[in-house]
Amino acid sequence: MKKVVVITGGSRGIGAATSKLLAAKGFAVCVNYKSNKAQAESVVNDICDRGGKAFPFQADVSIESDVIALFEAVKNTYGSVTHLVNNAGILFQQASISKISVERFNKILTTNITSCFLCCREALKYMNEGAAIVNVSSAASRSGSPFEYIDYAASKGAIDTLTKGLSIEVASMGIRVNGVRPGFIYTDMHADGGEANRVDRLSPQIPLQRGGTPDEVANAILWLLSDEASYVTGSFIDLAGGK
Ligand code: NAP
Repeated sequence: MKKVVVITGGSRGIGAATSKLLAAKGFAVCVNYKSNKAQAESVVNDICDRGGKAFPFQADVSIESDVIALFEAVKNTYGSVTHLVNNAGILFQQASISKISVERFNKILTTNITSCFLCCREALKYMNEGAAIVNVSSAASRSGSPFEYIDYAASKGAIDTLTKGLSIEVASMGIRVNGVRPGFIYTDMHADGGEANRVDRLSPQIPLQRGGTPDEVANAILWLLSDEASYVTGSFIDLAGGK
């Protein structure tokens, strides 16, 4: 089966590591990004330099028309999408509930969960038996992230629920839907929360005593997308060092 994957937010952090790993394993990769074109092109160039296939595509995946254009572009470039990684996500400055505006709450929801719904719906128009989706949730869906970002945690809880329900809706079509729940991974995202060294601060509280790497998450995503996980659907891999 020809493998064509869309990785939302594939230009930085976990998405960039996943783009490079999947390309090395023979996937043709659409590296989606929202704003940072240079970073997306850098990931694509790295893949192409190693003999892989990739192209960058700008789309704000919280916007329906952008998502429709994204999957049409993939179809025109590599043929129908066969695999999808819903990875794009954001968080804002750490704050307790009284400091969270409705505008912020809604921005988090549209970027983190409406995007996931839209990409799943559009991808499924092209997918057939053997296709697979991985949604990137978070350990925050279990902890609730009190005093940091309950808006973000709530959006990730919604991803878990969408993953479970959709996995059952499409199971009879031979399409699998799973999730990963990373926690404490070294990426730029923590700076957006106002604490760039958050992972190091929390490391003593993590059973494995360290933060994780984007490559460690990418390996779990690769496995869930692969035929080796052919009997796995509606499942989650926690990547939070035992937390
Ligand atoms: P990151 O380094 O901040 O990268 C975020 C990526 O998402 C960038 O490529 C960004 O593109 C893209 N993006 C943001 N908004 C977008 C939108 N509306 N449309 C399309 N792309 C968009 O983040 P990360 O730490 O790798 O996180 C990746 C995923 O893992 C997220 O879903 C996050 O919630 C989850 N996660 C991360 C951790 C962690 O510890 N890092 C823990 C648990 C879960 P631009 O640069 O172009 O804006």
